[in-house]
Amino acid sequence: MTAYDYETHEYDVVVVGAGGAGLRATLGMAEQGLRTACVTKVFPTRSHTVAAQGGIAASLSNMGPDNWQWHMYDTVKGSDWLGDTDAMEYLAREAPKAVYELEHYGVPFSRTEEGKIYQRPFGGHTTEFGEGPPVQRTCAAADRTGHAILHTLYGQSLKNNAEFYIEYFAIDLIMSDDGQCQGVLCWKLDDGTLHLFSAKMVVLATGGYGRAYFSATSAHTCTGDGGGMVARAGLPLQDMEFVQFHPTGIYGAGCLITEGARGEGGYLTNSEGERFMERYAPTYKDLASRDVVSRCMTMEIREGRGVGAEGDHIHLHLNHLPKETLDLRLPGISESARIFAGVDLTKEPIPVLPTVHYNMGGIPTNYWGEVLAPTKDNPDNVAPGLMAVGEAGCASVHGANRLGSNSLIDLVVFGRAAAIRAAEVVDPKTPVPTPNQRSVEAAISRFDGLRYAKGHVPTAELRLDMQKTMQSDAAVFRTDKTLAEGVEKMNDVAARMSDVQVTDTSMVWNSDLMETLELGNLLPNAVATVVAAEARKESRGAHAHEDYPDRDDENWRKHSLVWFEGMKAGLGYRGVHLNPLTSHNDGGIDLKKIAPKARVY
Ligand SMILES: Cc1cc2nc3c(=O)[nH]c(=O)nc-3n(C[C@H](O)[C@H](O)[C@H](O)COP(=O)(O)OP(=O)(O)OC[C@H]3O[C@@H](n4cnc5c(N)ncnc54)[C@H](O)[C@@H]3O)c2cc1C
Repeated sequence: MTAYDYETHEYDVVVVGAGGAGLRATLGMAEQGLRTACVTKVFPTRSHTVAAQGGIAASLSNMGPDNWQWHMYDTVKGSDWLGDTDAMEYLAREAPKAVYELEHYGVPFSRTEEGKIYQRPFGGHTTEFGEGPPVQRTCAAADRTGHAILHTLYGQSLKNNAEFYIEYFAIDLIMSDDGQCQGVLCWKLDDGTLHLFSAKMVVLATGGYGRAYFSATSAHTCTGDGGGMVARAGLPLQDMEFVQFHPTGIYGAGCLITEGARGEGGYLTNSEGERFMERYAPTYKDLASRDVVSRCMTMEIREGRGVGAEGDHIHLHLNHLPKETLDLRLPGISESARIFAGVDLTKEPIPVLPTVHYNMGGIPTNYWGEVLAPTKDNPDNVAPGLMAVGEAGCASVHGANRLGSNSLIDLVVFGRAAAIRAAEVVDPKTPVPTPNQRSVEAAISRFDGLRYAKGHVPTAELRLDMQKTMQSDAAVFRTDKTLAEGVEKMNDVAARMSDVQVTDTSMVWNSDLMETLELGNLLPNAVATVVAAEARKESRGAHAHEDYPDRDDENWRKHSLVWFEGMKAGLGYRGVHLNPLTSHNDGGIDLKKIAPKARVY
């Protein structure tokens, strides 16, 4: 190995990632008086959160009756009873507070006539514990909600003196021999220097791993880097088999048309012009939850009722909506439809197809964002010095299926919770831990190995093999056969990483090497997804197994855990948290209301 120098930095807290979750955590930590650095591989306001369109869920009751218990019920049902009860309660209860905070920080929400925050209906959000009509719970800044939130949080973080390290790529966590996280090693992309950040707390907010699939709505930067780092540190990934397909990705391009489009009155039709969702979900129709709508669309296509020359997609109609609604509430998607589908949505339907959109699984945490290192005796054992928030984490509030607009609220509620917790466990007066040299050397040596990788398979070729395998074998519908093939093929792709070829060995703006590091992170995420999916012999939420069409609470109401040794995956399980934070007598939810039952919309 060539010798590498590195610069050292010391902080109370280092947050990796500057999306909604990373920025909310950074802002909170800085507000608490902790010396905080935020490291990000792209400029903060280019994080994928900027693309979030539809909105952020909170029971503000601005447009009609609502309360946190109804929001919690919808989240529990949406999760297909796999979410952790304490975390889901925390999310629903804290949501209004977190949204008002955003408002006070300066997020330019759309307004009602009376000047209150505008809220729209979204799939799976209902009233009266699922017995009443859809509710308008999703707070929106037109169809650019993520954009508005991200810009506001970045400004607020700067105002509170958080320090930003922009275009720094986090390579690996630095871990003590007894499992404490002590910092993170980073590569500064524009000048090729290495940087060792030592910290009392590292917060991973690196986003999802949508790019493990061929067609995804997520940005090309969504490569599961946090999951990769955690897997290499010997910690598990949780519930990775649950991958959300959004019903309305633009056919061919994969770009998203927000669920807000159906919230504002849009609907889907098949080749016979039929509004088929009325058949599958008579009550909530096009606003059933995402896994349900995606499956129904796939069934229509399979049964020969898809639209287009190849009968392989579905139509989304907005052409009946008043022009003022489109201009005021959905200006961004009018533009997306024109650019990416060549469609004027005031006149014609948009061609759409279920597209990979969100990862329910991720790095397991408790509802404070502390990463779990489960042991035989203690499934809730915490890994010291390490937190994970946002799409990278799994608290778990989304269980087997996330409701639309529940991710943005997850980012801010748990970003904030992590800061509250860090103020309790991080003492600004103590020195930062001395980094474990063995761990630093291991990280540098892996980096160097990839920099000089002289194998036979170019990174792009291996990545494409992974993406095609995931797309065909870990899809909307799964069978024993496709999943067994998926495991075999993904193990083969992962093994070929040792034969990868990097042609550019420079240290400055080396995108070849960066994409290879990203592929090295995507692979454990992808392998964990197929391995956990193959093992789960039931259907639940986004995991629709044709050979086991029913949910099996007796055997499978549990979280999957996948550990890695090299690229080899091992499986374990963890019980779902069934107890709420607050008992019913103290104003908590009535557990009878959220007891498992069939999930119909
Ligand atoms: C098109 C689209 C629309 C959506 N619309 C909605 C919506 O309306 N409502 C809703 O609730 N949810 C929505 N979602 C989901 C939601 O936006 C995402 O789940 C959420 O924004 C993820 O935020 P995050 O902060 O976890 O990660 P991201 O926003 O993805 O940010 C990740 C950050 O990590 C950094 N990073 C990653 N790896 C490294 C590394 N190795 N080194 C340094 N930095 C690193 C990146 O630079 C980036 O700053 C949407 C998602 C998509 C794709």
